[in-house]
Amino acid sequence: CGIVGFVGNGPVQKVLVDGLAKLEYRGYDSAGIYIMDTDGQDALFKTEGRIADLDQLVDYDLPAMMGIGHTRWATHGEKATRNAHPHQSASGRFTLVHNGVIENYEALKAEYLQDYPFQSETDTEVLVALVDFLAKEKGLSGEDAFYQMLALVQGSYAIALVDNHTPDRLYGAKHKSPLLLAIGDGFNGLVSDAMAMIAYTDQYVELQDGEVLILEADQVHITTLDKKPIERAPYTAELDAQDLEKGTYP
Ligand code: GLU
Repeated sequence: CGIVGFVGNGPVQKVLVDGLAKLEYRGYDSAGIYIMDTDGQDALFKTEGRIADLDQLVDYDLPAMMGIGHTRWATHGEKATRNAHPHQSASGRFTLVHNGVIENYEALKAEYLQDYPFQSETDTEVLVALVDFLAKEKGLSGEDAFYQMLALVQGSYAIALVDNHTPDRLYGAKHKSPLLLAIGDGFNGLVSDAMAMIAYTDQYVELQDGEVLILEADQVHITTLDKKPIERAPYTAELDAQDLEKGTYP
């Protein structure tokens, strides 16, 4: 339902949890965040219930340079903590959040993932399992595995993915679900709704269907699914003074 991702210098946990709180108005049944530091040290927090419940779980003292967060509105699998996003691959290498519905997830399971130890009933977990499978079995880089996974998937999605082999990077992709690149001063982010980061930046680039995002703190790349680079100037989102006051970044 709602996505927020952040890479850069800043209070990562706070940016993610505050961002999710700004998306509460859209409705959700569970929420979670995943954070990682520059050396690959990571932590995952998720729970059924409210952002206030998530806030209680999160360790705000852990060092982190990037992370992804999600509010879930269940479509496949009941509302439950195990079905909440982020979902992590069994190897622990890849972690992902997803808005939308993967229409061919059962076919993908049957074709590539018969032996995979699924931990949820979601369509989403197939995405992260497939990236892990493609990286491991086909010897692809995390980046190439992400592009390959997208080529196999049918349905609607906004996705944010972390590969713990590249802790300075965040991946995003969009098809029929909204996803925006948020350009900040010393950081970059991705959000399903500008509300989630309006306290930190008013510069956004709207992704089109079939586009992929590679984000680092000081650079961003947008490409097509076949890796053709895309240039698109950011627009300035309307700021509401009240929204700005709630932000504390940097
Ligand atoms: N289909 C996914 C799920 O049920 C994502 C739902 C959403 O967009 O929040 O977990």
